[in-house]
Amino acid sequence: MPVETVLAAASAFLGDRLTTNAALREQHSHGEDTQPPVLPDAVAFVETTEEVSRLLALCHQEHVPVVAWGAGTSLEGHVTPARGGISIDLSRMNKVLDVSQPDMDCRVEAGVTRAQLNTHLRDSGLFFPVDPGTSACTIGGMCGTRASGTNAVRYGTMRENVMGMTVVLADGRVIKTGGRVRKSANGYDLTRLFLGSEGTLGIITEIQLRLHGIPEAISSATCQFPALANAVDSVIEILQIGIPVARMELLDDVQMDACIRYSKLDGLSAMPTLFFEFHGTEAAVAEQARMAEEIAQQHGAQGFRWATDPAERGKLWQARHDAYWACLALKPGYKGIATDAIVPISRLTEAVVGVKEDIAASGLTAPIVGHVGDGNFHTVILVPPEPDGLARAWELDKKIVARALSLGGSCSGEHGVGIGKREFLLQEHGSDALAVMRSIKLALDPRGVMNPGKIFLN
Ligand SMILES: Cc1cc2nc3c(=O)[nH]c(=O)nc-3n(C[C@H](O)[C@H](O)[C@H](O)COP(=O)(O)OP(=O)(O)OC[C@H]3O[C@@H](n4cnc5c(N)ncnc54)[C@H](O)[C@@H]3O)c2cc1C
Repeated sequence: MPVETVLAAASAFLGDRLTTNAALREQHSHGEDTQPPVLPDAVAFVETTEEVSRLLALCHQEHVPVVAWGAGTSLEGHVTPARGGISIDLSRMNKVLDVSQPDMDCRVEAGVTRAQLNTHLRDSGLFFPVDPGTSACTIGGMCGTRASGTNAVRYGTMRENVMGMTVVLADGRVIKTGGRVRKSANGYDLTRLFLGSEGTLGIITEIQLRLHGIPEAISSATCQFPALANAVDSVIEILQIGIPVARMELLDDVQMDACIRYSKLDGLSAMPTLFFEFHGTEAAVAEQARMAEEIAQQHGAQGFRWATDPAERGKLWQARHDAYWACLALKPGYKGIATDAIVPISRLTEAVVGVKEDIAASGLTAPIVGHVGDGNFHTVILVPPEPDGLARAWELDKKIVARALSLGGSCSGEHGVGIGKREFLLQEHGSDALAVMRSIKLALDPRGVMNPGKIFLN
């Protein structure tokens, strides 16, 4: 049996870090999603690039599937070992290798979490801005999904903040991509090819990241609106005028209700709400905030509340980051499907108001929350624990994607394709572009062992 051959050979260098323990296989059988779990044959806890290289070479030779695992927080079935094989867990590759203050960059192993990195950087005056809603996710996993978060409107996503990588290819070869320079016009951009490739082209073991200076002044605010359209119209105008907001998040009335209960937010009502954050010098922050407030008020905003004290600001943004868990707490026993549509900014009001109508028509509960500064918004569709619950939730998800695509948008702004979004790729990219993607996959992974069953339908 090929798997047994790999296990026998790999245990020589991994020892008991290669395991068939039932609980660990179960833990690595799914991510934070509603796809059916599939057990891997084994889990390997790797510690070096060399170990990853030796393991991939063996799996390539024996045609055994491999799935890279960071923290398993992805939302579309990305880490489900759809065809069995070995789940390669990189969480023990968790060293921050180098930080350069003058160059404002750092090199980390793939298993470093975003929270760990920012704790490490705390006294350096620098920070890493990409902040998915869970602090557990790893930098390698964030490269895998080309993640982003609330700061993307000002600091960009992984696409703008990854400078280079060490990648182990399917056959075990190790390559370095990119470098430490701020730009380069030297050949194909392999770094960006691997970003968002979901472990289907290679396994990233080290990453060179761009860092940013902690701003001199930060101020956060919330403001509430009588209707969803007023909130989204404010967002569009703030962006079009060019106010450099650092964060601008939308929560609809249902999401606000969930957050007020879950995070015990005082003084806010269950109404459509924008959360803002401004970064810069004292004077710049005051000016940006004044302009944003003026625009929001023209669109009917009530009760602009400022939070300049770090503790109060922290509470507000923690509530935003906990929005997913707040949704789940609304209906204990229900699962959640996080949707991830994105549209051009000018179509945002149409998209969000239309999705609210789709939700009402479905009879399901689905709070809306979003990184609207990028045109990206999520709903967490709460799946009723009934026989047709999942089918109803998927139907609503499809409607939301169809609406985004009809407005020139995309089925995923940041969560990725995994298993859940595969069916939309053809419509979004067209058959010729999809064929190019397939030929890249074939060139880098001719035996189809790298996270099979993801991105492409077959
Ligand atoms: C509550 C909650 C909120 C979230 N909010 C956001 C958000 O705001 N923005 C956002 O973008 N995402 C969000 N997510 C999704 C998730 O956190 C991201 O997709 C994250 O990037 C996954 O990181 P991970 O380490 O858990 O990766 P995993 O889930 O372990 O893996 C993700 C994918 O990357 C591949 N992979 C993992 N490590 C590597 C590697 N070293 N080399 C190559 N491929 C690799 C895996 O095979 C898989 O395909 C959220 C998830 C939750 C549960």
